Amino acid sequence: MLRWNYVNTGTFLSRWFHLRWGSRQIHYEKPQNGEAYITGMTISKATSREIITADAYVAACDVPGIKRLLPSEWREWDLFDNIYKPVGVPVVTVQLRYNGWVTELRDFQKSRQLKKAAGLDNLLYTPDADLSCFADLALASPEDYYIEGQGSLLQAVLTPGDPYMPLPNEEIISKVNLS
Ligand SMILES: Cc1cc2nc3c(=O)[nH]c(=O)nc-3n(C[C@H](O)[C@H](O)[C@H](O)COP(=O)(O)OP(=O)(O)OC[C@H]3O[C@@H](n4cnc5c(N)ncnc54)[C@H](O)[C@@H]3O)c2cc1C
Repeated sequence: MLRWNYVNTGTFLSRWFHLRWGSRQIHYEKPQNGEAYITGMTISKATSREIITADAYVAACDVPGIKRLLPSEWREWDLFDNIYKPVGVPVVTVQLRYNGWVTELRDFQKSRQLKKAAGLDNLLYTPDADLSCFADLALASPEDYYIEGQGSLLQAVLTPGDPYMPLPNEEIISKVNLS
C-alpha cells in the first residue's frame, strides 16, 4: 500500500509512504445513484492499524488478494464479479543448464559448440508442450546467466504444474528434455 500525501509545509513538500502494509478493508458509501465512493481504507502492519484516505485508490493485487479485499456487495456489478471467474492453475518453474544451445534449431553445428552463444534471444511460448513459456536465460539475460564454456540456461514454466509436483527431479528433467 502506497499513500501519496502532499503537504505544503512552507518550504518542503512532504510525502508519506506506507510500504509493506496490508490493505484490509475498503470503506465506501453507496448513494442512490448506483455507484460506490470509497471513503477510506483500513491498512495494517503487525499490530498497527489505521484508516487512510486518498484522492484515488489503486489496487495492484494478485487475483486471490483482490478477491479478499473487494467488498462482497460489489459483486452486483459485472466488472467486479468477473474478477471471481478466472481459475488459478499451479505452475512449476525449472531451470536447466545444457552443454549446447537448445533454441538453435536451424544449424546443428552451432547448437553443439560452446565457443559462441546461439539460438533465440526471446521469451518463447508454445501451445504444444507443458512448458508453455520458456526462455534461454544465457541468451536473454547474458550479463547474469551466460557462462563461458557452458550452454543454454533454459527457464521453463510448466503448466499445469500439479502433475509435476510429486515427481523426482530426474523425471521432471527428462520430461522437459522430451518436450
Ligand atoms: C512462475 C512464474 C514465472 C514468471 N516468469 C516471468 C518472467 O520470467 N518474466 C516476466 O516478465 N514475468 C514473469 N512472470 C509474470 C510476472 O511475475 C507477473 O506478470 C508480475 O509479477 C505481475 O506483477 P503485479 O505487480 O501485477 O502482481 P504481483 O507480482 O502478483 O503483485 C501483487 C502483490 O499484491 C500483494 N497483495 C495482495 N493482496 C494485498 C493486500 N490486501 N494488501 C497489500 N498487498 C496485497 C501481493 O502480496 C503481491 O505482492 C512469471 C509469473 C509466474 C507465476
